[in-house]
Amino acid sequence: MEARGTGGHSRRARLPLALAVAVASAAAATLLLRPRGGIIEPAAVDAQSYFTALQLDRAEDFRDIQRLITLGGLVLSSGTLALVAWRPPLRVFDRIGRRPILGAATVGAGLSLLLVVVDLPLSAWSHQRAVDVGLSTQDWLDWFADLGKSAAIGAGFAALGAALALALVRRFRRNWWAPAAVVVVAFGVVTIWLFPVVIDPIFNDFQKLPPGPTRSDVLELADKAGVDVGEVYRVDASRRTTAANAYVNGLGHSKRVVLFDNLITGFPRDQVRLVVAHELGHQKHNDLLRGLAWLALVAPAGTFLAQRLAEAFGRRYGLGTPDRKPGPAALPAIALAITLAAFGFGVASNVLSRQVEARADAFSLRLTDDPGSFIQFHRGLAVRNITDPDPPGFWTTLFGTHPTTLQRIGTGVVFDRDR
Ligand SMILES: [Zn+2]
Repeated sequence: MEARGTGGHSRRARLPLALAVAVASAAAATLLLRPRGGIIEPAAVDAQSYFTALQLDRAEDFRDIQRLITLGGLVLSSGTLALVAWRPPLRVFDRIGRRPILGAATVGAGLSLLLVVVDLPLSAWSHQRAVDVGLSTQDWLDWFADLGKSAAIGAGFAALGAALALALVRRFRRNWWAPAAVVVVAFGVVTIWLFPVVIDPIFNDFQKLPPGPTRSDVLELADKAGVDVGEVYRVDASRRTTAANAYVNGLGHSKRVVLFDNLITGFPRDQVRLVVAHELGHQKHNDLLRGLAWLALVAPAGTFLAQRLAEAFGRRYGLGTPDRKPGPAALPAIALAITLAAFGFGVASNVLSRQVEARADAFSLRLTDDPGSFIQFHRGLAVRNITDPDPPGFWTTLFGTHPTTLQRIGTGVVFDRDR
């Protein structure tokens, strides 16, 4: 009795400890990897000076509900996992538990598909709203085809992840967080290195940018910035959306800058040059590697937190107990733990992301010396993408990967003033 009581006490202390370690490591990694210098502190600007009342109303009407749909989806997926963890269909788990690792793969794929189905009404509503405002160009058939493809890929990864997770939990019992951290980092590397070559082409058509003004601009700016740009691609984003964007991805041979066709065809050349300069800023400062370094620094604390949460949720399935080997029935608790830990670390990583993006903006302004086009671009982009230029603070804190449109305009204003 006494030993059990003591054990119970130290068990209760383990979760706060894991939380403290998680917060400390996320803060330390963010401080260590934050851009030092090169960021322009934006001026406070008024949305009414850059957008009409109609544009602001339209963005707010659209984004208010889209935000609720996103939050609702998060609550729904976590709630579903919590429900399955709390009341698992034990008879099913018993039957597949005879071959635990194969069973784990089945449960992983099953949970992943269950979450897609549970979220279906909300994602369909979100799509319908995007069609209504003219942002999505996809009909329902295309949309369902995309959903089917990503559900199948998601289920494949979930099956693999669940089998691996249960194998680690059974083999390492009290310390599975350590090998799990290695798996997380390895997956991060594979995501950046192979996804642009293997997964992205399943959804879109990527073409090397043919010779022309855009390609010359990219090469000229890269030369001026002293950046090895890798390959430059044009992606047929217009098959899904009217939105414009660009990004960098890949490692080594897969390193690339990707420009949306909507960007190339829908924006003046000076503005496309600014976007290219922004992406070159990411390459100049090795921001993809910076992101991977951040992941490597926080991964041990992240998986440690996930293990402690999983033990708190799934003790009755043998998690954190010395006398029982957990079977596939423990997976919903593990999945819920990973979901919650990943959400928390995602919020932390957004702090770094916003600073990294602010520096790429400042870099693009210095490289092109064209603040007028910069401000025009962010104005036009927000109107076109129906972006809320000044979203609620809590939203930016939780989900904001970039400075807000108003902050970016404010950055252009400061650069122009100090020029
Ligand atoms: Zn960026």
